[in-house]
Amino acid sequence: LKDLKTVAQLYKFAVLKKLAADKLRHLPRPDLLERVALFQGDITTLKIDSIVNAANRSLLGGGGVDGAIHSAAGPKLLEECRGLNGCLTGESKITRGYNLPARYIIHTVGPVFSSKYADEKAEQLESCYKTSLDLAVENGLEHIAFPSISTGIYSYPIVDATRIALNTVRTFLESEVGNKLDRVIFVVWSDKDLEVYESLIPEYFPLG
Ligand code: ADP
Repeated sequence: LKDLKTVAQLYKFAVLKKLAADKLRHLPRPDLLERVALFQGDITTLKIDSIVNAANRSLLGGGGVDGAIHSAAGPKLLEECRGLNGCLTGESKITRGYNLPARYIIHTVGPVFSSKYADEKAEQLESCYKTSLDLAVENGLEHIAFPSISTGIYSYPIVDATRIALNTVRTFLESEVGNKLDRVIFVVWSDKDLEVYESLIPEYFPLG
């Protein structure tokens, strides 16, 4: 955790400060900026309470971040997942982290994007974030790291997906139950996704 830059620290970059000043809408509580972080790299390396897996409905492993999490966690993860009977799109289930440095894995099933059903897909993606955050709190976990759900193989447009991620997390952190979470980490893999998060964070977590 100590190696992760929180949003408050990110604001030390002048460009973000300038963006934030332009985009002020309603101000979040100052402590919110200390509870959100952005990390570029491999989610399986994070030594925290929980990481989220962008899984598929079978929960039996797949490509992308799902494959990386299963290989790093080891075969006992698959064994536990077999007992879960899959998961519906927009919902989430929790397992232990096994060989991962993270204690728990929250498996969520993002929607496969379709512009024809954009509203329904957006609701499902929001529900992935919401049900994962709820599960973390229900299990007494204080940190949760999200990959960019649905924006890889499931081809959800990155800007729209990032807006949903940031908005849902902010709403949750401001709610009473959200007070129990100490840190939410957005994990990006590509430089392009990092740029998108850096440019949108000031809109959702503006500097007071
Ligand atoms: P989905 O099927 O939900 O689209 P993917 O795994 O294909 O899920 O992609 C989700 C995001 O996770 C993508 O931005 C991808 O680049 C990223 N990703 C892939 N491997 C990792 C990893 N080890 N750590 C963090 N993010 C990753």
